Amino acid sequence: MRWIVSGTPIAIWGHGNEDEQRILADTQAIVQEQRDLFGGLPYEHYTFILHLATGYGGLEHRNSVTNLIDRWSFQPRKSYERFLELQSHEFFHVWNVKRIRPAPLGPFHYRSETYTRLLWAMEGVTSYYDRLLLVRAGLMSDQRYLETLADDIVTMQSTPGRALHSLEESSFDAWIKLYKADENTHNTSISYYLKGALAMLLLDLEIRQQTSGAYSFDDVLRYLCAHYPIDGPGIPEEGGYLAAIEAVAGEANGTFRRFFARSIAGTDELDYARGLGYVGLRLEWGYNQSGTEEQPPAWLGLQAREEHGKLKVSRVRSDGPAYIAGIYTNDELVALNGYRINEDRLNARLSEQRPGDTILLTLFRRDELLHVPVVLAAAPPDVLRLIPLDEPTTTQQRMYREWLGL
Ligand SMILES: [Zn+2]
Repeated sequence: MRWIVSGTPIAIWGHGNEDEQRILADTQAIVQEQRDLFGGLPYEHYTFILHLATGYGGLEHRNSVTNLIDRWSFQPRKSYERFLELQSHEFFHVWNVKRIRPAPLGPFHYRSETYTRLLWAMEGVTSYYDRLLLVRAGLMSDQRYLETLADDIVTMQSTPGRALHSLEESSFDAWIKLYKADENTHNTSISYYLKGALAMLLLDLEIRQQTSGAYSFDDVLRYLCAHYPIDGPGIPEEGGYLAAIEAVAGEANGTFRRFFARSIAGTDELDYARGLGYVGLRLEWGYNQSGTEEQPPAWLGLQAREEHGKLKVSRVRSDGPAYIAGIYTNDELVALNGYRINEDRLNARLSEQRPGDTILLTLFRRDELLHVPVVLAAAPPDVLRLIPLDEPTTTQQRMYREWLGL
């Protein structure tokens, strides 16, 4: 165990390719950025405890955090950024979760499951800010931030469960869904971390737009801090969060109320183009494989990986052709159109097909050999770039700079 002592001590257990001085300086920058956002540090002592081992995750406490990180994850830069995100995420919980919280989240009942419809506000808001504050602290470029944001949007839009499971339901069902994920979770559920962060992005941009830049989500956080003290009852489950936003930003002709009904209680698609348009960005979708808008690649809608020489289906998307044809997770794929396949051959043969073509998949389901015709579909776009408008207005440029603290 080594201690890197500064204003906020960091204790490190284990060794890898870490650079202690870098970790210290960057963590200091994170602490200062968040202190400035909330207008002070609400504790007397706080300690970062880092375990360099194998894995990734953190657990927040009121006056400390325990973070587990792979010992070799401090290089290259993209990998190091994930470490910084973890530091930022767990430290943000000093306020959001450990102080700003719905009533069921403290004092905890450690002996029973805790139910709340507001986990999206705890983990989604924190996930939105963990990376955004790295940009504001100068630890991540805005270009890199937009790349990661685009990747998150792709992941979200590749999750069929988004049409079935709202942020509120996903929060409430955490005990039976997110904590107990299975091969069908992506078809029936969403992550309140991922969708929560994207919804908060859009909500932040909406507040900025509706108030002509006078207010942002930062103000909502400060409002929540001031109105729901640590020894108080917490944010009311019913309408408490919306009320805080409207208290800060006004009702805006029901804009926020509608957003909550559609995107937090409901399962409407998130309108990324609207929110990102406010800051002068547009979305450009494309394909990983060669394909164009007129001629998208053929798509099977499943993932398969080789296990001990067998090509096993690991995931089937409920909005794809394999699902419609009745292919299951754990099916062992043997041949395509009568010829043996492995992972590479499956992808190579598929790339020669066109949407609308029928292929014959031969597979083992347990011991039974099956021949399954599948009509291939047009692949949904799976690559996204967030691109500045050619001629953004001065308002859009100003909003972009204010949003990212540039
Ligand atoms: Zn968290």
